[in-house]
Amino acid sequence: MNSDTRRILLVEDEKAIRDAVAAYLERENYWVTAVADGQEALEEFSRHSFGLVILDLMLPRVSGERVCRAIRDSSDTPIIMLTAKGEVEDRIIGLELGADDYLVKPFSPRELVARVRALLRRAHVTDEPQREVLEFGELTIDVSGHKVLVAGEEIDLTASEFKLLTTLSRYPGRVYSRMELVEKVLGYDFEGYERTIDSHVKNLRAKIGDDPREPKWLYTVHGVGYRFEDPTGKE
Ligand code: CA
Repeated sequence: MNSDTRRILLVEDEKAIRDAVAAYLERENYWVTAVADGQEALEEFSRHSFGLVILDLMLPRVSGERVCRAIRDSSDTPIIMLTAKGEVEDRIIGLELGADDYLVKPFSPRELVARVRALLRRAHVTDEPQREVLEFGELTIDVSGHKVLVAGEEIDLTASEFKLLTTLSRYPGRVYSRMELVEKVLGYDFEGYERTIDSHVKNLRAKIGDDPREPKWLYTVHGVGYRFEDPTGKE
């Protein structure tokens, strides 16, 4: 992701929520510009390029609804709307105004970060199909550039290892059976090649320095297959 993609405009008049959300996002390596009202939000938005906007609906001076409409008039920047309980109608209006997602207060910062990540990934893939880079802590996967880096060091992977890693990492948390991985990675669709996947996983682990007894990324799901986890997505 480029630097602008990681820059987030946070618009929230409740200081406690604003501070908590900003701290959480910053911990996840996002750059946060936090403002307390709609007027400031529009000023910041016109001055800088943001990857995403988190927008409270009920705001002083200029309402979240008007801010949302103004942003939509000039850009496709993803917007997550924050609404209070009971503002159901309003949150539907929010989506009609062009917000991409919404969260009802009280929400967990972790949930918000998950939504932010998902939206940014979606927007990033759509806007720049020529460059897809996935980041999972020290592991960087430049999908289009066919490069993998661990702590900044480029790792030399075979085509199958690379395919295996990108397949698993596209959907962190999803369990893939060996058979599914055979199909996706090797392109076969018959049994008997499952052990080949085990070998590829073993080699991949050795190359990226992932200890199977204490995995950072690649987890064995006993009796089934494998799954990938994003170490930065954990609490
Ligand atoms: Ca508010």
